Amino acid sequence: MSDLETRLAAVEQRIANACNAAGRPRDQVRMLAVSKTRPAELIRALAASGLTAFGENHVDEALAKQPALVDLPLEWHFIGPLQSNKSRSVAGHFDWIHSVDRIKLVRRLADQRPADLNPLNVLIQVNIDAEPQKAGCTPGGIDALAAAVAERDRLRLRGLMAIPDGTASAEATRASFARMRELFNALKRDHPGCDTLSMGMSADLEIAIAEGSTLVRVGTALFGPRDPVAGANAR
Ligand SMILES: *Cc1c(COP(=O)(O)O)cnc(C)c1O
Repeated sequence: MSDLETRLAAVEQRIANACNAAGRPRDQVRMLAVSKTRPAELIRALAASGLTAFGENHVDEALAKQPALVDLPLEWHFIGPLQSNKSRSVAGHFDWIHSVDRIKLVRRLADQRPADLNPLNVLIQVNIDAEPQKAGCTPGGIDALAAAVAERDRLRLRGLMAIPDGTASAEATRASFARMRELFNALKRDHPGCDTLSMGMSADLEIAIAEGSTLVRVGTALFGPRDPVAGANAR
């Protein structure tokens, strides 16, 4: 097995074990391969192993890689903070966005989503630990954003995303994921079509799955450490 296949098998095993420990069926949790800073050839290699969903956090980097992969039936997720002036590229070249956190972005993405594509799948990002430097709305801001997304035909509201404070203890991280689960359950009462809670990364996917994640976003555990130089772009 290649290193990539070995790491993929290890991550699959971690997800399966976490589902098992939580008493959840394995098919309730999808894996998003976070391919930021990785070349198109590595994405192709993972696709050959059966992964279909890939996440990128910089628009220009993603648009540079996508043309080399158009022959593959990939699902592209935009997971980074999005400046309004780049919304058209996301609307035109992605299937999902995880980082909608303001009404202006909702309006632009809806207006810019090309008519020949399926509606853009939208997750609302919540800044669950109220970190000043982090993107995301407040918990109190979810309802208005969800309503704005739901009323647009070119957008499809799917759920919530969060990135808890990476420096916090495992207990604090678990508490943040648990609050996300409550917010997601509340959202589903108003928007029953919502089916996606995007939380958990390489370091904390077990905790996220225990607290109800349906989509874990995995970068380093799959691809290995990110190059710190190429990765100035990366974090
Ligand atoms: C980079 C990134 C990830 C993946 O992080 P790893 O620790 O490499 O698994 C997940 N989500 C977002 C939003 C990211 O930017």
